[in-house]
Amino acid sequence: MYDVGIVGAGPAGATLARLLSGRCRVLLLHRQRAKCCGGILAPESQKMLAKLDLALPREVLVNPQPYAVAVWDLQSRLVRHYARQYANIDRNAFDHWLISLIPSDVDVRSGAVYRHAQPLDKERFEIFFTEKDEIRSEQVRFLIGADGSFSSVRREFFTNRLRPKRYIALQEWFDLQTVLPDHSPKNRIDFRNDYVGIFDSEITDFYAWMIPKNERLILGGAIPFENKPRERFERLKTKLKEFGFHFDFPCHREAGSLLRPLNPFSICLGSGRIFLIGEAAGLISPSSAEGISPALASAYYLSQAFGSNGFNLSAYRQNLWSLRWHLRFKTAKIPLMFCPWLRKQIMLTGLSTLD
Ligand SMILES: Cc1cc2nc3c(=O)[nH]c(=O)nc-3n(C[C@H](O)[C@H](O)[C@H](O)COP(=O)(O)OP(=O)(O)OC[C@H]3O[C@@H](n4cnc5c(N)ncnc54)[C@H](O)[C@@H]3O)c2cc1C
Repeated sequence: MYDVGIVGAGPAGATLARLLSGRCRVLLLHRQRAKCCGGILAPESQKMLAKLDLALPREVLVNPQPYAVAVWDLQSRLVRHYARQYANIDRNAFDHWLISLIPSDVDVRSGAVYRHAQPLDKERFEIFFTEKDEIRSEQVRFLIGADGSFSSVRREFFTNRLRPKRYIALQEWFDLQTVLPDHSPKNRIDFRNDYVGIFDSEITDFYAWMIPKNERLILGGAIPFENKPRERFERLKTKLKEFGFHFDFPCHREAGSLLRPLNPFSICLGSGRIFLIGEAAGLISPSSAEGISPALASAYYLSQAFGSNGFNLSAYRQNLWSLRWHLRFKTAKIPLMFCPWLRKQIMLTGLSTLD
């Protein structure tokens, strides 16, 4: 029997497994599927890595390393640059690196997909998963859902809890040489070096992005689940064509779901012997969709709430207090960033910009 069964080996699950190693018997179900992600580490993520005493290895970083975000409002055609020190990473290399740090006493089941869990008594669950085309099961004392935005653990055990708004995030990768306009649009964006946030309320009430990665450029966008995301994404590409882009031949297409916890009550940390961390808990910025730092932070704080009797929910809740307030602060910023009229006025003032 294991003390802790963790579902999902993204940044949250891999970090928790590493931090619990040597303290209890841990089983980690690792589905092994490439994550669709922009791969931008915000300053908060970098601080969290420092807190975890981790330094990004060279093979995780890609070029360029943007020092600012260019905010491009397609409707008002305004552009402003804001200073932010991002790290540009290869997301799959990042996930592999975090998994490679897990000590060997953790039982990592690669290719295992969680199916469901059944409480046996007050102390134990039987968890069922598919591994090598077979249904297998193990007993655990605590079950941790670190299985991301479409968490099976959350859907199974916390159905009656308010859920964050759901988006579909689409990304297409292009050859940087062929996609850029022949003549640079008059908006002073350096598409080879800038991380670009694109705002247009006709496309989405959230945002879209362009991220250069080595010789490639990612065009991505997060669009509400119910708003025909593929059609809206194609409309975005058509709009960008007016600026001279050639988004015709993607080298790679991917999609993933993304949560936006606009209501703080949609964050769910768990109850009893089941806990949620990372995006499964709804811990992701509702203003920027940065989810790596809350994933690392929640894993760290849950590991801190582990004692001789196992996990303590109120200690976990308390440890997360400042992160939850930080996310509330980000929610408060939403009208300023996403109401087209207000955003335009703020951009016109030039406040805090590098321009
Ligand atoms: C398109 C897109 C771009 C993004 N860009 C950024 C960005 O640039 N910067 C940033 O900070 N955040 C970004 N995010 C958000 C960020 O990727 C997530 O919030 C973050 O990865 C959450 O980490 P996690 O460990 O909680 O979940 P995840 O990284 O989603 O990991 C969950 C893991 O659980 C596994 N899993 C799921 N179901 C099962 C199952 N049944 N059995 C076993 N395993 C399972 C998955 O395969 C995955 O490995 C982006 C998200 C999307 C969709």
